[in-house]
Amino acid sequence: MNIVIFGPPGAGKGTQSNLIVKQFKLHQLSTGELLRKEIKNKTELGKKISTIINLGNLVSDDTVGNLIVKYISDKAYKNRIIFDGYPRNLIQARNLDKLLSQYDQKIDLALKLSVSLNVIKKRILERKSLEKREDDSEEIAIKRFETYEDKIRPVIEFYKQRDLLKVVNGEATISEINSEISGLIDGIKGWLCDIRQYKYAGNKKSLIYGSYCRDQYSTK
Ligand code: AMP
Repeated sequence: MNIVIFGPPGAGKGTQSNLIVKQFKLHQLSTGELLRKEIKNKTELGKKISTIINLGNLVSDDTVGNLIVKYISDKAYKNRIIFDGYPRNLIQARNLDKLLSQYDQKIDLALKLSVSLNVIKKRILERKSLEKREDDSEEIAIKRFETYEDKIRPVIEFYKQRDLLKVVNGEATISEINSEISGLIDGIKGWLCDIRQYKYAGNKKSLIYGSYCRDQYSTK
């Protein structure tokens, strides 16, 4: 099972991907994280893209395409990837389909986290004080939101036409969003999931029942 999760910057893609990865034994592939790592490590690529990212623009399709190929071609990741932040435009959506089919894979679910600009601004400013990301200022937040909205429309259409799109209210609480997403993943045909239940105390989440999801054809 491969999943794409998209939503404006600050929608909670990273938070939700982290939870799903643990629950469903998937691998998170965040292009934003990979790009930030390049900048932090001051690689050639990092030097080239830092201004682009800090201004809230998108890096080139080829650059991100090259980064994700490594994971799609890796057997350890096969049918176990949640794409966080990719695809961001129609060219990338088509590229992802093509790459996956080369490795005998596909997307099984496209999750769209819907969040308004006002909520995004609030969240990004909160995150700035915690994570100190260069691109987390109000002005850049608005720019990134607009860039996202502009480019993502055809991507939404792309997955809608393939009947893979599910829209999730990204303004609900973390645990509510997680429950909704878990239910959607549980519902994917061909996957068997044990019943899972969590309890929440503040931010702390603990498991009541065990969970395990597997491909119905898997021998594990
Ligand atoms: P994110 O962590 O997903 O919010 O991404 C942070 C920044 O990395 C974005 O604002 C873009 O500059 C860049 N980026 C991440 N993913 C992509 C992508 N798929 N295509 C182009 N640029 C991206």
